[in-house]
Amino acid sequence: MQDFGQKYDVIVAGAGVAGCTVARELARWNISVLVIEKGDDLACGATRANSAIVHAGFDPEPGTRKAFFNVEGSRLYPQWTADLGFPYVQNGSLVLAFAEEEVAVLEALQSRALQNGVEGVRLIGVSEVRHMEPEVSPEVRAALWAPTGGICDPYQVALRALEQAVWHGSRVHFREEVLDIQKGYRGYLVRTSRGELYRASVVVNAAGVFSDELNNMVSARKIRIVPRRGDYLLLDTDYGKKFTRTVFQVPTKRGKGVLVTPTVHGNLLLGPTSVEQASKVDVSTTVEDLSCVRELASKTWPGLDLKGLIANFAGIRASNADGDDFVLGQPGDAPGFFNIACFDSPGLTSAPAVAAWTAREVSAYLGATLRCDFDPVSPHRRPFAELDFGERAKAVAESAARGHVVCRCCQVTEAEIVDALHGAVPVLSLDALKWRTRAMMGRCHGGFCTPEIAKIVARETGASPDELDKRGSRSQLVAEAPDGYVNLVRGVEGQPLVAEEGGDAAPRLVGEACGAETGLSYDVAVVGGGAAGLAAAHAATAAGARVVLVDRESALGGILKQCVHNGFGLQRFREELTGPEYAMREIELLERAPLGKDALSSGWWPTLRPRTLRRLPMARW
Ligand SMILES: Cc1cc2nc3c(=O)[nH]c(=O)nc-3n(C[C@H](O)[C@H](O)[C@H](O)COP(=O)(O)OP(=O)(O)OC[C@H]3O[C@@H](n4cnc5c(N)ncnc54)[C@H](O)[C@@H]3O)c2cc1C
Repeated sequence: MQDFGQKYDVIVAGAGVAGCTVARELARWNISVLVIEKGDDLACGATRANSAIVHAGFDPEPGTRKAFFNVEGSRLYPQWTADLGFPYVQNGSLVLAFAEEEVAVLEALQSRALQNGVEGVRLIGVSEVRHMEPEVSPEVRAALWAPTGGICDPYQVALRALEQAVWHGSRVHFREEVLDIQKGYRGYLVRTSRGELYRASVVVNAAGVFSDELNNMVSARKIRIVPRRGDYLLLDTDYGKKFTRTVFQVPTKRGKGVLVTPTVHGNLLLGPTSVEQASKVDVSTTVEDLSCVRELASKTWPGLDLKGLIANFAGIRASNADGDDFVLGQPGDAPGFFNIACFDSPGLTSAPAVAAWTAREVSAYLGATLRCDFDPVSPHRRPFAELDFGERAKAVAESAARGHVVCRCCQVTEAEIVDALHGAVPVLSLDALKWRTRAMMGRCHGGFCTPEIAKIVARETGASPDELDKRGSRSQLVAEAPDGYVNLVRGVEGQPLVAEEGGDAAPRLVGEACGAETGLSYDVAVVGGGAAGLAAAHAATAAGARVVLVDRESALGGILKQCVHNGFGLQRFREELTGPEYAMREIELLERAPLGKDALSSGWWPTLRPRTLRRLPMARW
């Protein structure tokens, strides 16, 4: 649809947690809404890179907007998660004191908690702290315990809110930047990077670290944002159980300090730092800051072990240069222009409350009426990774794709990827798919599952890998995909390549294939040349069987090829090897086996059908 000069009641600039939650709350009213986001997905700013803590509210100075909306937001989270289905756990938080003067800070925080209306906050002694968190340093003197603190998945908070807005008729444009806003007759003219000029009665400024620039286009009451970067270390899910609660140290002038916290997905997160910088977009981490995170986190957790490190990242806070508070509502000289600006921490926590307040203000300004058909509850499925065996069996019975695990690190299924691709909010990049489903987010960073995911994307959307951006424009997955790639993955002669419904006939077909179609005869066909397949082929060969080992990739080894850390082979080879070294040893053993050499083959095997089995040359890397 041509949007030139199109009129909306409300334009929301920015689809971070502020923009998405306000769009959800605006959906309660009879109002037309357009959300404009310059990135190729929602949450391209601070919402994607923060500590993910739903703060209890003992930290902000009493009487500030931060204090009010923090506590209100924290109270709303349980209802929002029940309605929208995003991951949220009320795990409670601790603030540790390591010296007598820090105990005094805890007392001051407790008194703030009382003034801010935070429930259940109390000081606890060393033994209770260590009972709650056995990994905490024995140097601790006391702690502040806040049971209403929580953790969430900020991207999912924003996504589920935006989805609900779209289901209620809101529109979303990605890859479109608001370049200019002018006061017009009864509203605003909004010019964007797509060359569009929209008219809107109301503009909601939710542009994160750029919200000062949008405000300053329409108001003489200037805002200044200072970007403050925070660096993090993220540990694998083996480490998430080391801590149950979020553990802070006493806050400093520069922020809440370095924390150690489990995430809702079972990882362990350490950070952030707080570094003022000129750039609003540079999220590069530095060695110095990551070392600082490590050093400070090891004060809380002396047993800190970075063997499980899987990622480091940084987020940029939109700090108010002229006072430590959010800038909310109409500036006074710009009626109909609503700020959610300088929205730094605790913005994630405050978002539901700020969104509800902003939507009420906007609807009052427009004289809008409530919709009678607003449904606050979104249908949502629990992720496959969270299901127990019985639930998984039920999911698989529903459809084979519900049990076809594509991303093994994060246990994401083909059906979950397909659901995301056909969801209410468009997926324009591989990273958007990653953040929706968590596929490619684990230890192997997608090294193993990305080709499979690219195939599913091609099959479902018709986009071949050279049209698929990783993140942002000109970040294609591959330079050039093979001719006819999409047709190939959509199926040779119409047969789908991945997970057919009820596709349990594969082993029988392998048997047929080996004998009937190629003229070659084997006792055993092993499908899959990863660690299990190599070991099975070796055992069968050692037992005297004639074996064919088939793998779809051009080199054997499966995920071992990506496991560049050591720790393999201690039992089998009595040596500590990396994954690739371990795989090479297995391959060499097979090559040396009397019958093995003939039998070993590797190559692309497009479909489990008799006529397509080919004997391919052995490939090594
Ligand atoms: C290191 C760090 C740790 C934090 N930890 C916590 C925490 O634990 N708990 C908590 O409550 N809060 C925390 N916060 C704060 C929280 O992350 C933010 O308050 C919140 O994410 C801000 O959301 P937002 O939507 O305002 O901004 P953003 O998430 O930055 O979203 C703004 C969006 O606007 C888009 N945009 C910008 N300009 C334009 C334009 N001209 N046109 C169109 N689109 C535009 C951007 O691309 C972006 O997607 C933390 C922040 C940081 C950086």
